[in-house]
Amino acid sequence: MSSVVDIQNVSFAYGEQTAVDDVSLTIEEGDFLGLIGPNGSGKTTLLHLMLGLLSPDSGSIELFGQSVDSFDQGERIGYVSQQATSRGGTMPVTVRECVRMGRFAHVGHSRLTDEDRRIAEEALETVDIMNLADRRVNQLSGGQRQRAYIARALASEADLLALDEPTVGVDADSRDAFYQLLDSLNNAGITIVLIEHDIGVVTDRANRIACINTELYHHGDTESFVESDALSEAYGTTGTVVHHHH
Ligand code: ADP
Repeated sequence: MSSVVDIQNVSFAYGEQTAVDDVSLTIEEGDFLGLIGPNGSGKTTLLHLMLGLLSPDSGSIELFGQSVDSFDQGERIGYVSQQATSRGGTMPVTVRECVRMGRFAHVGHSRLTDEDRRIAEEALETVDIMNLADRRVNQLSGGQRQRAYIARALASEADLLALDEPTVGVDADSRDAFYQLLDSLNNAGITIVLIEHDIGVVTDRANRIACINTELYHHGDTESFVESDALSEAYGTTGTVVHHHH
């Protein structure tokens, strides 16, 4: 069985600036992988590499056993970018239309069947935004917009959800509900990769952790991460000051 994501020895630089240095990691079906690291540590870059939005300078990346260069199953991936919470750039479509767009990957724009519409309605229900179905996406709050994009990914029957700091600008209650939703989607078999700056959220929810600071400091299960020094090493608070004994 192949991995959902298989990254081998991947490096990437913006000009002279190395953002990802020789990183290897895999994401298996059903994983909830938390991708953490300090600001500017290459998390978004690594996510973009894994989704084929950037090409690595070296190394190889496979999605669902297929090289990312020739990957042609985009409907299997739902991506909620960091910009998704901001109002700018969203089309003035309704939430229902936005979610139905998730079906366009399967059928042409003008060919939505009753079954496609039913799947879209189900997705609205799953993420609990039926009450927002007729509102325009660009008039939603950040948290509501995140849900609309998740519903669109569900409508496209994505197997992998990639989320880049999805709760920035979302209030605490909605944030909690949002992470419960992610848990239930993961329990239903959807593989999740989540960039999140709140490490407590990640260690509570994720079964696997990748901790990077340009290089990879940890890749493995959450328990072994919590017991390791990877966090302090990657975040630069290592060494004699913290650990010295008299
Ligand atoms: P993170 O998501 O962990 O905050 P990023 O992947 O966004 O980190 O950035 C990694 C490094 O690459 C940072 O030093 C950042 O300044 C740099 N970087 C990110 N995007 C660009 C870009 N488009 N052009 C040049 N440098 C970039």
